[in-house]
This record gives sequence, structure tokens and C-alpha cells, in this order.
Amino acid sequence: MDWMEASEEQMRRERQKARELRNSQWWKNRIASGICHYCGKKVAPRDLTLDHIVPLVRGGRSSKGNCVPACKECNSQKQHLLPVEWEAYLEKLRQG
Ligand SMILES: [Zn+2]
Repeated sequence: MDWMEASEEQMRRERQKARELRNSQWWKNRIASGICHYCGKKVAPRDLTLDHIVPLVRGGRSSKGNCVPACKECNSQKQHLLPVEWEAYLEKLRQG
């Protein structure tokens, strides 16, 4: 897979879109269940953060398909792990 580098301009646009999404009814419905997209744990809706499956820096968009609710734990894992380590983390979650 090609490593896509997003331009500053694109990043700014997508961050703005993410802010709008976070304020939308769609997002409120999305977090109402309190389920983390990655680990499936149930947490308080206010503890869910909007996470980009494909990060913006890697060319991800703030589309509904690319934005999912993530618990704090998964979110911090994702920020600190390398992409390959994050894949391993997800794989572990899938295996239970
Ligand atoms: Zn989680």
C-alpha cells in the first residue's frame, strides 16, 4: 500500500469536517449506544471519541464511513502504536 501523505490544506479541511460531524445528529446517534467500534466495550457516550479509521495524516477523510466511535483506551492505543502494532492490537481483539 502506498503511504499517502496528506497536504496541510487537505488536513485542515478534513479536521473542519470532523468538527461538523461531531456536532451532527448522525454522530449523536452513533455514540448513543456507547459501543466502541474497535473493542466492542460499552462505555458512557461522553467517553467515546471520534476516530478516523484511516488517519487524516495518511490521507483518510472525515466521511461517515471513516469516522467511528472509539473508547479512550483504544484511542490512546491507536495514537501511540505504529500502524503495524495497531493492526496486531485489532487482531488480538478479534480473537477475543
Ligand atoms: Zn475500545
